Amino acid sequence: MPTILKWPDPALFKKSAPVTKVTDEIRSLAEGMTSAMLSAPGLGLAAPQVGVLLRLIVVYPAGAEFEYAGIGPITLVNPVITETLGEDIGDEGCLSVPGVNCELTRPAWLKVKYISLDGEPKELQAKDRLARCVAHEVDHLDGVIFWDRLPRLKRDWLKLKFKRKNGW
Ligand code: ZN
Repeated sequence: MPTILKWPDPALFKKSAPVTKVTDEIRSLAEGMTSAMLSAPGLGLAAPQVGVLLRLIVVYPAGAEFEYAGIGPITLVNPVITETLGEDIGDEGCLSVPGVNCELTRPAWLKVKYISLDGEPKELQAKDRLARCVAHEVDHLDGVIFWDRLPRLKRDWLKLKFKRKNGW
């Protein structure tokens, strides 16, 4: 099972490259990431969080309490958010920034195109927590941490809290 990297690991600040082909190697990466996400536990994980700079995320909709409940973890290869609607303010945290969370505005609904682990083009419509989760993980693929979306003062305060909690 891969180790989840913590901020400020340099991999978390980089832009990830698209996956050119869904190979067995990619499938085993997704499997390892899914195990790491579930044992953390978390609702999502992006490949750069395990040090692989590829556009691949795993999300766990059954962790969110709505229509996708009962479905297992999903892998989204090369996810692209194509549509968003509304705003939702909710509590957010990150497995790479353990111990801190804060309220953040995300789209209330979104549509995301991706490639499945079978290499098939797919589309997923997500709302509420799953939408937040997908938006959060896609941000990781561009080197964006959730607190980067906060006003500077709030971000600095959160970083300080993180450092204190993690014994810096
Ligand atoms: Zn995260």
